[in-house]
Amino acid sequence: MSPMSSHNPNTPVAVVTGSTSGIGLGIARKLAEHGHALVLNGLSTPMEADALCTQFMADFGVEAVFSGADLRKPEGVAELIDTATMRFGRLDVLVNNAGIQHTAPVHEFPVEKWDAILALNLSAAFHAIRLALPGMLDRGFGRIVNIASVHGLVGSAHKAAYVAAKHGIVGLSKVVALETAGLGVTCNAVCPGWVLTPLVEKQIADRAAVEGIGIEQAGRELLEEKQPSGQFVTPEQLGELVVFLASGAAAQLTGQALAVDGGWTAR
Ligand code: NAD
Repeated sequence: MSPMSSHNPNTPVAVVTGSTSGIGLGIARKLAEHGHALVLNGLSTPMEADALCTQFMADFGVEAVFSGADLRKPEGVAELIDTATMRFGRLDVLVNNAGIQHTAPVHEFPVEKWDAILALNLSAAFHAIRLALPGMLDRGFGRIVNIASVHGLVGSAHKAAYVAAKHGIVGLSKVVALETAGLGVTCNAVCPGWVLTPLVEKQIADRAAVEGIGIEQAGRELLEEKQPSGQFVTPEQLGELVVFLASGAAAQLTGQALAVDGGWTAR
């Protein structure tokens, strides 16, 4: 039996990188709710990964498979895209979401952290796009969504690698959009402000420790400093935006950097 024989060939298929947690998980769940089969990815134990896939089937009745590929390496990205094509025979929606953060002044920034952040937050998206695109162009349909950040549009102190990578992915999104315009494929960057996920919880905890304040107060201060709404963006809200970008209604929406930031970049 071929490995893809039990899959309905008409079911759209999405790959969401870094989907075991936070924003990626929120996006994967929304795509599943809207009938996409999923290739999930992230740093999880095999047991956690099995439980996650089973949960997708139970919650949404869609098939989900997991790839634990380390996307800092080009071979890892190739393994992930191969998982989609081997299992499902197609890839309709690619969401490049996996990302990490490290904060330090630029002259103290650890070189290995710079390399890891550029590899995961920027180069992994390039590799995934270059590998996924030929199939999308052959079928005349594809949706590429790169989860950038407000830090793809503006800077913040102590985030040299992150801001460089996120500005890079906004630029990459524009080039891919131009190269695929009119061919059924779109490519956009989504630029969230603060979202309460493990990545930001660490920054809140660091701030609380440095300032000798409680976690709640540190979270409030973090929002007040940058995000005029005073509220966190949610993974579910970002998932709904990705579902829209994946739809036919968004066929002419391409090459954009869409800020979802409670007003952060409006001032
Ligand atoms: P998170 O820490 O909750 O999740 C990160 C995910 O990436 C996890 O699934 C993790 O397993 C996976 N991952 C980490 N290293 C990996 C590797 N080497 N290979 C494969 N997967 C790996 O983070 P999050 O806050 O949900 O962030 C997701 C994306 O959203 C990132 O690109 C981040 O820069 C971006 N973002 C986050 C915020 C925010 O406020 N949280 C704001 C703007 C943009």
